[in-house]
Amino acid sequence: MTFKPVPLPRIQGGAPVGTHVPLIERYLDRLPFEPGDKLVSLQEGSTPLLQAPVISEIVGATVRLKLEGSNPTGSFKDRGMTCAVSAAARDGAKAVICASTGNTAASSAAYAARAGITCAVIVPEGKIAQGKMAQTLVHGARVISLRGNFDQALTLVRELTATHPIVLVNSVNEYRIEGQKTAAFEIHEALEGGLDALCIPVGNAGNITSYWRGFREMGTSPRMLGFQAEGAAPLVAGHPIEHPETVASAIRIGNPVRWEDAMAAATDSRGSIRTVSDTEILSAYQLLAYREGMFCEPASAASVAGLLKYGAEGAEQVVCVLTGRGLKDPETAIANNDGRMITCPVEIAAIEEAVLGDP
Ligand SMILES: *Cc1c(COP(=O)(O)O)cnc(C)c1O
Repeated sequence: MTFKPVPLPRIQGGAPVGTHVPLIERYLDRLPFEPGDKLVSLQEGSTPLLQAPVISEIVGATVRLKLEGSNPTGSFKDRGMTCAVSAAARDGAKAVICASTGNTAASSAAYAARAGITCAVIVPEGKIAQGKMAQTLVHGARVISLRGNFDQALTLVRELTATHPIVLVNSVNEYRIEGQKTAAFEIHEALEGGLDALCIPVGNAGNITSYWRGFREMGTSPRMLGFQAEGAAPLVAGHPIEHPETVASAIRIGNPVRWEDAMAAATDSRGSIRTVSDTEILSAYQLLAYREGMFCEPASAASVAGLLKYGAEGAEQVVCVLTGRGLKDPETAIANNDGRMITCPVEIAAIEEAVLGDP
């Protein structure tokens, strides 16, 4: 039997329904690529902007969630990685490398696999959420588990790439920042320039840098409200943190590479970079899951935690960036719902009680 594909219906004048334009193609005139460049794409970008009625009600503003977990590997890193790996492949690179708290590793491993080039990642030992580790391994990357933290891993890969022909794909790479700015374009288009404030978690500070660049290119300047975890808040403290600690592993970073850019984004937009505690992060994480039906990873919930903590401060249209998908970190999800599972014998009365009784 031969399989015959069903022709896809077309949206008037556009691509067939069910297809999706690679991010670089969509914004080619604003990215450092030329028509005809061979692209490494997994159809990233064009992510949903979801209304959040419960959070809107609480803060008294119209709040939307930019669902970056809907990218192919489950985080916004794919926007930057399609650019970084396309450029590396175009320039003849044979290998890419990164230090990672997990999502950069997962994304670089997938895009390198797609491009047919080697990928190595250095991750802090025992500090990577399980989903991210699974992704990185399954795409065939060489995984080096470092007996140290993210900041030390980044110092080492910078040293390594200074003396070897391997492309560094952390957010020191300009292509990463360029690719990630496209999320700001999408929000700008969706809200027709009407955004007042953007809430975003801040780790290495590449993403807040990217969004600000994107909004500036669109000629708007919403307030950039960045949030760091209390135990990993160098930008708030004003100095690097030697031993950063937080449940939000994706932002467990003590010395961000985009330090100056992030401070400029906050200052120039009349925004700020402030802290949220792990308790506040986890309570926003649960609220998103219980009430909005949205399962993001803990770091992503820092954006909502910040909005809930400090309020909308007069902004009417607010977007919180949910940077990564909840399934990446099943350990935290399960640990925070410990004891909610009901075990039951095979007996109708017991089942009745378990299903209908007081929780
Ligand atoms: C990378 C990452 C962040 C932090 O972004 P930076 O550009 O490092 O500030 C936040 N959340 C998730 C899920 C991430 O993967």
